[in-house]
Amino acid sequence: MLTDVRTPLMAANWKMHLSIAEGVAFIAKLHELVGNPQDREVLIAPPFTHLWPLREPMAAAGFSLAAQNCHWEPQGAFTGEVSLAMIVETGCRYVIVGHSERRHIFGESDAWIGRKTAAALSRGVVPIVCIGEKIEEREAGLTEKVLRRQLASSLEGIQVDAPEQLVIAYEPVWAIGTGRTATPVQAQEAHAFVRGWLAERFDKAVAKGIRILYGGSVKPDNVDDLMAQPDIDGALVGGASLEAASFARIVQYGRSGKSS
Ligand code: PEP
Repeated sequence: MLTDVRTPLMAANWKMHLSIAEGVAFIAKLHELVGNPQDREVLIAPPFTHLWPLREPMAAAGFSLAAQNCHWEPQGAFTGEVSLAMIVETGCRYVIVGHSERRHIFGESDAWIGRKTAAALSRGVVPIVCIGEKIEEREAGLTEKVLRRQLASSLEGIQVDAPEQLVIAYEPVWAIGTGRTATPVQAQEAHAFVRGWLAERFDKAVAKGIRILYGGSVKPDNVDDLMAQPDIDGALVGGASLEAASFARIVQYGRSGKSS
C-alpha cells in the first residue's frame, strides 16, 4: 500500500571501524539504550567481514543490517568484490551505493553507481543511493545541477513501484567527516529539490513516500533540528555512530532526556 508516512531511518555507517567483538557489544548497548522503537528504523552498516557474525544480534535487536558497497555482477573474476547474492545471504536488506568516499577516494563513476543500484533492486535489496556536491560546486551555485546529474545517472532506466524499495541519502561532500554540517535550511532545500526530482521521475505517490536521509557530521546536538525539517526522513551517520551512547541519542532525536 502506498503511504506518504515515511518511517524515519537512522543509519550508522561504521566505514572501516570497530572489530566484530566491538560490534557485538555496540549492538547490545544500543539495544539497551533505545530498545526496539516502533516509530523509527535503526540500521547499521558494518564492514563486510562483520555482516554474518552480526546478523543474529542485529535481528534479535530488531535493527536492520546493511552492506557498505556491492558489485553489480552476480559472480565472476572480480577480486576483492562482493556480490549482492553474498550480501543477501548475510541477512542484509540494504546496501549503501555511491558513498562519497567510494566516488572520490576509489574513483567510482556515476555509471557504476547506476549499475549497482539496478542490481540491488533486481535482487530485492534496498539501495541507499548517496549523492552530494563538493564545496566548490556549492560555492559555484552548482548544487542542484550536480544532484540532478547524480540522480539521473544513478537511477537511469530504473523503475520503482513502492517507496520502500529505494532510499536516497543527501550527503554534501564538504560536510562528511569534517564537523561542518549543512544548516537545517540548506539540507531542507536540497531534500526538497531531490523530492521534486523524484516526483517528476517516478509516480508522484511513490516519490512522496521515498525516504531521503541527510548525512554529513550529524551529531547528538544537531540531529533534532535536522530531523525537524519536513523532507528529512532520517540520517546517515559516520563518526557519531561509532559510540553506542552517541548513536543512541541520534536515534532518539526529538525525545529529550532519554539517553546520554
Ligand atoms: C557518512 O559516512 O556517510 C558520514 C556522513 O560521515 P560523518 O557523519 O562522519 O560526517
